[in-house]
Amino acid sequence: MKTMNNKLIDGRRLQVPTLKIDTKIIDGKAIAENVKLEVKQHAQRFAAQYGRKPHIAMIVIGRNPASEIYVRNKNKDCEDCDIDQTTYKLPDTTQERLESLIHELNATETVDAILVQMPLPKNLDAKAIQNAIAWEKDADGFGIENTGKLWSGITDATCACTPNGIRHMLHECVSLESLKGKHAVIVNRSNIVGKPMAAMLLDMDMTVTICHSKTENIKTYTKTADLLITAVGQPGFIKPEDIKPGAIVIDVSMNKDAHNKLCGDCEDLTGVAGYITPVPGGVGPMTRAMLMQNIISCAYKRLK
Ligand code: NAP
Repeated sequence: MKTMNNKLIDGRRLQVPTLKIDTKIIDGKAIAENVKLEVKQHAQRFAAQYGRKPHIAMIVIGRNPASEIYVRNKNKDCEDCDIDQTTYKLPDTTQERLESLIHELNATETVDAILVQMPLPKNLDAKAIQNAIAWEKDADGFGIENTGKLWSGITDATCACTPNGIRHMLHECVSLESLKGKHAVIVNRSNIVGKPMAAMLLDMDMTVTICHSKTENIKTYTKTADLLITAVGQPGFIKPEDIKPGAIVIDVSMNKDAHNKLCGDCEDLTGVAGYITPVPGGVGPMTRAMLMQNIISCAYKRLK
């Protein structure tokens, strides 16, 4: 698409044509619905084969309204996908009691997958809790064994849901082949987003840069990204002038704007980005769908 732009050239205002990119919106919600339909078919096949549905145990500790909403959504996704779930709601607990519950669930034959909703109250050591879950039942893939397998390229790793959902979206919307050798910039270095994402993009033969709050001149990196993944948690962090024209931009963040509306990190990038994910309706539904996929793969992994 061609538009005219008013530019100052040699002290004179001139109308110059600029190419506007036909930005495509990646519909995460629709892709996630398809993933859930596939998961449901797998769950039904599993039930027919083993005489019971795949089953996840979810543990939620304390009274965190956001966590309660997340767990309610996960319960509903399980119902949609024909997966059994048991939710343990503990008003409070100690490290010892929580680890002992996890050990019990690890040893329970009819529990295929375990998830402890994060964040945990401050008295609990989240890393130790994640590592107490048996690796083959680790639905979030946050434990050290799954993380190590992911970085070592071992294919039976259970992968963190958000980056796995992004990989799946890329696979659906642009050919992964076309991304080989291209530059991916991730603005986030958390264990749930940036680090596992980097491992997956390296496996896809991309050249990967991770940025974070201490990165100097961060926009010099974002401007060179063919694929930009942002999960900073700041509305308006990425502006149209911060990206390379035609870039694929994946907005992971879930922020509230001044009107208390859900938004990501990006300003409106239409006409500049090649592809963008909406917030809501982009990465969020994919994260939820990937959890359902992880439960099925945990179930089959144990019983094969
Ligand atoms: P986090 O652990 O707080 O990570 C935020 C990252 O952004 C950190 O690496 C931080 O750098 C970096 N950062 C903060 N300010 C920055 C700045 N000014 N310049 C450059 N980097 C900066 O959070 P998270 O758990 O990864 O989540 C990040 C966002 O993604 C949140 O909005 C969260 O709600 C969203 N999220 C969404 C989904 C989904 O399914 N859609 C899933 C997970 C997370 P340092 O490491 O240096 O602090």
